[in-house]
Amino acid sequence: MTSTDQERWRRVKDQLRSELGEDVFGSWFGRMELEAVEKGLVRLSVPTRFLKSWIQAHYIDRILFCWQAEQFSVRRVELVVRSPVRASIAKSKPEQPVEPLPEHRKEPVGRAVVAPVATAHEALGGSPLDPRLTFDTFVVGRSNTLAHAAAKQVAVARTSDPVLFNPLYIHAGVGLGKTHLLQSVAWAGNQPDRRVLYLTAEKFMYGFVSALRSQTALAFKEALRGIDVLLIDDLQFLQGKSTQAEFSHTLNSLIDGGRQVVIAADRPPMDLESLDDRVRSRLAGGLVVEMGSLGEELRLEILISRIALARAHHPGFDVPAPVLAYIAKSVTHNGRDLEGALNRLLAHSKLTGQPVTMDLAEREIRDLIRPQEPKRVKIEDIQRIVARHYNVSRGDLLSSRRTANVVRPRQVAMYLAKTMTLRSLPEIGRRFGGRDHTTVLHAVRKIENLVGNDTSLAEEIESLKRQLQE
Ligand code: ADP
Ligand code: MG
Repeated sequence: MTSTDQERWRRVKDQLRSELGEDVFGSWFGRMELEAVEKGLVRLSVPTRFLKSWIQAHYIDRILFCWQAEQFSVRRVELVVRSPVRASIAKSKPEQPVEPLPEHRKEPVGRAVVAPVATAHEALGGSPLDPRLTFDTFVVGRSNTLAHAAAKQVAVARTSDPVLFNPLYIHAGVGLGKTHLLQSVAWAGNQPDRRVLYLTAEKFMYGFVSALRSQTALAFKEALRGIDVLLIDDLQFLQGKSTQAEFSHTLNSLIDGGRQVVIAADRPPMDLESLDDRVRSRLAGGLVVEMGSLGEELRLEILISRIALARAHHPGFDVPAPVLAYIAKSVTHNGRDLEGALNRLLAHSKLTGQPVTMDLAEREIRDLIRPQEPKRVKIEDIQRIVARHYNVSRGDLLSSRRTANVVRPRQVAMYLAKTMTLRSLPEIGRRFGGRDHTTVLHAVRKIENLVGNDTSLAEEIESLKRQLQE
C-alpha cells in the first residue's frame, strides 16, 4: 500500500463524512481501515461482523463510488473483519495478552492463557474482553475521575449491596476510555455469585435478532434478565424498533429488579435520537457522567504506562523523556492515536534495532498530529451560552413567551443548534420546549437572512460560535 493509497483513502473518508454527516460517519466508518489496494480491488476492514454486514448492505456502493471518483480503475470494494486482537502492541504475539494476567486467572499449565472470567462471560454470550483493559491499566486524571470512581464502585459492589445509581451512564467522544472502563468493570466485577455481562450494542442487537430467528428469543431475554450487572457499550449504535423495545424492557426489568446497568455512549442520553422519550429519561435518571478529553498530563501518564507494558515483552524498547513529552504534547486527539504513535515507534525500534530519537518520532507520527477536532456541541450548551449572552434564562428560551427580548435569543439558539449540531429540525423543536419543526425552520431562515445584512448580529453569532467551540 502506498502513501497515495492512504491519501486517497483519506479523501474518500472526507467525502463520506461530508455526505453522511459526522454522526453517521462516526457510527459506521469511524473504525474502518484500509487494508490493501490491488488490481482494481480495495480491501477495507472493520472490527465486527455486524459492522461488516451493515456497511455491506447499506453503504458499499457509495464507498465504491467515492473511490472511483478518486481512482477510476477501482472496480470493487471488499470488506473484511479484522481479528479481535487489537492492532496494538500485542500484534507481535497475538496469542498472548500483553498484560500478564494475575495468577488466578490463568488456566492450568500448558495451554494458551484463557481467563475464566472471559470464558464465563463468553458462555453468557458476552462480547470479547480485551485482557489489557483493566482498572490496573486505566490512568485516572481530571477528565475521568468521577467516571472511574463510579465504575470502580460498581465493580466492587456485592450482590447484596443496595444499588447506588442506576443506570450509570458514561459518555465521551471517541477514544477517551469508555470501552476501557466498561471492560475493567467486567474483569473486576465478575464473582462466582455475581454475573457481569459486557455487551456491545451491536452484539445486543445481533443476539436478539438471531434469537428471534431461531425462536429462542425468550431464552435470550431470560438470560439477559438473569444477570447481575449488564454493561452495554456504544449504545448509540442501537438500531431498529424491535431491538429498542427489547432493550427498553431489559433495562426496565433489570433496574426494577435492583440489578446494575452501566451504559457507555458517545453522547448524553437526551441526544440518543433514535430512542424514545421514556427510555431516554430512564437512562438520564441514574448517574450521568461525561469524560472529557485527555489532558496533556494524562496523555503522558498513559504513554508511560503503555511503555511499561510493552517493555515486558520488548525489553530493549525505550522512549527518551523528551520524545514522550513531544508525543504527549502533539498527539492531542485521543487514546487511540496515542496508542498508534507508540506502536509505530515500537515497530520501528524492533525492525531496525535503532534507538528512538526525536527525529524518528517527528517523522513517524507526523500524520497523527492533526488540528484539534471540532468539539461536539450540545444543544444544552447552546441554550446555556445564548441565554447567558442575552441575559435571559434557559427556561425563557424553552418557554412559550413571545416578547422580543426572548424571541430573538431563542431564534439565535435554534439557528446555532441547526448549524452546529447534526440534530434534525423535529429534534431541535422537541428540545426547545416541544416546538414544531416548522417553527425551527422559520427561526433558522430568519436568522440566516438577518446575518446577511446585519453585521453586528453576524459578529454576535460568530462570537457565540467561538465560545461554543472552546
Ligand atoms: P472509547 O471506547 O471511549 O472510544 P477506548 O476505551 O477504546 O475509547 O480507548 C481508546 C484507547 O485509549 C485504548 O487503548 C485505551 O486503553 C486508551 N485509553 C483511553 N483512556 C485511557 C486512560 N484513562 N488510561 C489508559 N488508557 C486509556
Ligand atoms: Mg469504545
